[in-house]
Amino acid sequence: METSDDSSGNIRVLCRFRPLNEKEKAMAENICVDFGPDSKTVMMRAETENSEPLRFVFDYVFDPSTVQSKIYKVAASPIVDAVMQGYNGTIFAYGQTSSGKTFTMTGVITDPELMGIIPRMVGDVFAKINNADEHIEFTVKVGYCEIYMEKIKDLLDPRKNNLKIHEDKARGVYIEDLTESYVTNDREVYELMRIGTNNREVAYTHMNAGSSRSHSLFCVTITQTNKLDMSTKSGKFYLVDLAGSEKVGKTGAEGKRLEEAKNINKSLTALGQVINALTDGKSSHVPYRDSKLTRVLQDSLGGNSKTTLIIACSPHPYNEAETLSTLRFGIRAK
Ligand code: ADP
Ligand code: MG
Repeated sequence: METSDDSSGNIRVLCRFRPLNEKEKAMAENICVDFGPDSKTVMMRAETENSEPLRFVFDYVFDPSTVQSKIYKVAASPIVDAVMQGYNGTIFAYGQTSSGKTFTMTGVITDPELMGIIPRMVGDVFAKINNADEHIEFTVKVGYCEIYMEKIKDLLDPRKNNLKIHEDKARGVYIEDLTESYVTNDREVYELMRIGTNNREVAYTHMNAGSSRSHSLFCVTITQTNKLDMSTKSGKFYLVDLAGSEKVGKTGAEGKRLEEAKNINKSLTALGQVINALTDGKSSHVPYRDSKLTRVLQDSLGGNSKTTLIIACSPHPYNEAETLSTLRFGIRAK
């Protein structure tokens, strides 16, 4: 049994299997996974491992029938509560391309049932602000960037395409010059998401590449001032849709594609190692500086920050090798 044991710690690993897509349904075999009744276990019949079914245990396993509101409740709503109390939080979606990362993080913004984590979180934040005590004053700001080939690009102002990371006592680690827009309601945030996503897609169409080759980071900072004593506190969450984790075949990939693959592999490995160092409790050194991704997130991973890693998988045997690799990344993260 491979297990990512339940813990009350600050890092949780959740696993989501999407439904079969049309292409998979058209193939002969059926799904290759079974789900335990405890919502924590998935069993996989792996052809390549010719053994007993492999058993993986996570903090939560969502079977393909799981609706978006349930994912939000388990994965994100505790993080919103923590951020409203002044903590930082991060949610990652990890998995091969077309495993459901973007559906999970963003989903269909205009559809109340199919909305993903980001729009739900934003709605939740403004609902909490509107219900808060009158003497608390809130400001909310949003930034949206992507990391491609170890370069940080501002998705709200695409002219800024190679932003630097800075660190100082007052602000901690931050992206210098990143556009941060102040927002006062959820619709303004949805508009920024639309603009940023559009900037991202336009750029990739020009480069004849796919946005699955970059990490996208959506960041919301909530600052509150208590007008009675003028004390302030600030919490921030990052919502990260990671680049596709698939291996690029040894043959075929060359030039740009090979460089992309190396960069993605490097940053996903760095992320795994950082999470690993944070969870094993033994490492004195956390290798944040091994990639831009982990460096940007330094203040939002570890310490008092709440981190949720959602690993996204296909249930079809066609994707078996990638699914096994994704499940094992999730297990190692604990
Ligand atoms: P990724 O971002 O990992 O590349 P996507 O989120 O774009 O993958 O998902 C690939 C396709 O599968 C999309 O058309 C998406 O709408 C669909 N999909 C993914 N997860 C689900 C789900 N849980 N329910 C219904 N459709 C899904
Ligand atoms: Mg995607």
